[in-house]
Amino acid sequence: MAKILIIEDEKAIAELIELNLSLTGHSCLRAAEAEEALELAMSQHPDLVLLDVMLPGRDGFDLIRELRQHDLPVIFLTARNSVVDKVQGLRLGADDYITKPFEPAELLARIDAVLRRTGHSDDSIFICGVEIKIEERMIRKNGENIELTAQEFNLLEVLVRNRNIAMSREKLLENAWGYDYVGETRTVDIHIQRLRRKLGWDSCLKTVYKYGYRLETEP
Ligand code: CA
Repeated sequence: MAKILIIEDEKAIAELIELNLSLTGHSCLRAAEAEEALELAMSQHPDLVLLDVMLPGRDGFDLIRELRQHDLPVIFLTARNSVVDKVQGLRLGADDYITKPFEPAELLARIDAVLRRTGHSDDSIFICGVEIKIEERMIRKNGENIELTAQEFNLLEVLVRNRNIAMSREKLLENAWGYDYVGETRTVDIHIQRLRRKLGWDSCLKTVYKYGYRLETEP
């Protein structure tokens, strides 16, 4: 997974982001201001930078110029949501822009997308003995391909992108079937059972009582 530098002066937000990224297997570095951030960027070579716009001293718009000189992909992270700021951020070379407050799932998806686009993505993911290549929609276990239906794969992808995070049945329906899908949460249960059977994931695809499911990557 990737090494991500979080540049954010609000400690609670930085900690929350780090927690979510760590759960999905990313490693994190944190800086609360420009000097510290640039030092880490140059010495640690992160794969991606999450950059808050409003920082004490030099702000994110100023900082991005230097980060881009080192070829680092940048996602702006800010409470501002005016069109002017978005345009300026993207013009300065940001790869994406996300406004606070955001859902962890959305942040993770955007990070994955930027990592893929910029070629920093580690192609294969190994979870509970199964090799998964999301882009190629390929699943392999013990050297053999496993066939999944399109819908089973969509559900798997959502679980993998949110691994180690408890997902409600409603959230899984919304993300794996689509916002306007009129379905029953029972549909999710049926597909989960199929994934457990096909992948041998009885022990790591956990039921969260009266809520939903969690894909656990730690044994
Ligand atoms: Ca800030």
